[in-house]
Amino acid sequence: MAIPGDFKTDNHGWAELMDRREGQPPLRANHRVPWVVVGAGVTGLACARRLAELHPNDEILLLEARVVGQGASGRNSGFAVAVSHFTDGFKQTQIKNYSRVNRINQNGLELLQAQVDAHDIACQWRAEGFYHTAADKRSLQECTEFIRYLEAMEIAHSPLDGAALKQRLGTQVYQRGVHVPNGVLLQPAALVRGLADNLPANVALHENSAVLRIDKGSPLGLQLEKAEVKTDRLILATNYEAGRLEVLRRYIIGSTLSGSLTRVLSPDELACLGDLSDWGVLSLHGGGATVRLTTDHRLCIRNTAEYNGAVLLSRRQLELRQALHRVSFDRRFPQLAHVNFEYAWSGVEGISRNGTNFFGRQAENIYLAGVYNGSGLSRGTTFGACLAEYASGENSSMIGDCLASAPAKWMPPRPFLDIGAFATVRLRFLGVGRDQ
Ligand SMILES: Cc1cc2nc3c(=O)[nH]c(=O)nc-3n(C[C@H](O)[C@H](O)[C@H](O)COP(=O)(O)OP(=O)(O)OC[C@H]3O[C@@H](n4cnc5c(N)ncnc54)[C@H](O)[C@@H]3O)c2cc1C
Repeated sequence: MAIPGDFKTDNHGWAELMDRREGQPPLRANHRVPWVVVGAGVTGLACARRLAELHPNDEILLLEARVVGQGASGRNSGFAVAVSHFTDGFKQTQIKNYSRVNRINQNGLELLQAQVDAHDIACQWRAEGFYHTAADKRSLQECTEFIRYLEAMEIAHSPLDGAALKQRLGTQVYQRGVHVPNGVLLQPAALVRGLADNLPANVALHENSAVLRIDKGSPLGLQLEKAEVKTDRLILATNYEAGRLEVLRRYIIGSTLSGSLTRVLSPDELACLGDLSDWGVLSLHGGGATVRLTTDHRLCIRNTAEYNGAVLLSRRQLELRQALHRVSFDRRFPQLAHVNFEYAWSGVEGISRNGTNFFGRQAENIYLAGVYNGSGLSRGTTFGACLAEYASGENSSMIGDCLASAPAKWMPPRPFLDIGAFATVRLRFLGVGRDQ
């Protein structure tokens, strides 16, 4: 059970690969502002930016419990998705829903691209798309379904056999796959830091500033350790931690994922990989490994997911998970079995029982967006920007797309909550770590 005010963090590789950054000071004293956004991941950053554009004369307070880059937005695998892969097979009846989700993804990707370009954010942005791969019987079937979906949706793609994949990626583990060119690989911590360091002038970001309690009323009251805030409108972009503020307690689950990054490969080691100098692989196996060759020539593998009470793994747990990363890595790259991992990390992603996302009004003057079941980089950016518009009374077809997320399923109270959360994570990552 999370302790109020105790927002744990640890090292996670992506941030350690960057120069030290001076964060913004914690919030102190009493404040009265029209808008507060809580959480400075991609959702909160996009929301604060859009609010600032819509209300150029208002001060927007953006409060982050940790430092920027320590939430899921700085700990993910760095696949900014335009084209979602929907598990459990292609369904003609779902085409409208597939299009809606892909519009949200595409819009988020374009918003991110605009910020990266405008502020020259050095986040290893590579718009070369991803490889979706299959290594066992079940994922080979899924590959066929995925191609049916791509064809039906008229999405550009290139099916590849095992030999073509080996030539490009330097591993013979995959038997079939598809390259989808629309999608971006990036360095997640560099992206969120860049977004946070280039906010509009009327956004005041404060880090190490956890909101501990919301007092309902008009105005709303927010209690922090050393500050109090009165605000007219509150946006929660707190991902799986919304329940700590008594919001959506029984609807959001935190699933803990882990991965490792190798040291930088030498030119000889790179030469025994495939033709490409960087790439990203998403598994078509529900619990399969996400693998990358980064532009700075490290291999990255993420292949565990579990219910761990919605907190990061301990050092000991992480050591044990790293053994699983190693097995998966050696199976793919036996020629690089001597290459050590330099970093291991975990991160918690928000998921819901039925895979839905959350967008909209939660209570009088309180709005929330989040929980993307993966794919939060692009989707979270759209949700954040659209929530700013929605809370400002605007309307648009993109807001309509966000609002059309399916209603969430309720989870029973503890201890059944833990059992249900455990089962949900198991189902979402069925057979995790067991793709060949
Ligand atoms: C290991 C891993 C791999 C992933 N891979 C990918 C991927 O490749 N591509 C992809 O698109 N998605 C991926 N995801 C999912 C993606 O990272 C998330 O969906 C996305 O970052 C969510 O963004 P967010 O802004 O909603 O939440 P977060 O980034 O979690 O931000 C929420 C912020 O709110 C803060 N906060 C919480 N409570 C409070 C409070 N009370 N007061 C103040 N601040 C608070 C937190 O500290 C946090 O920084 C992955 C996730 C993980 C964990």
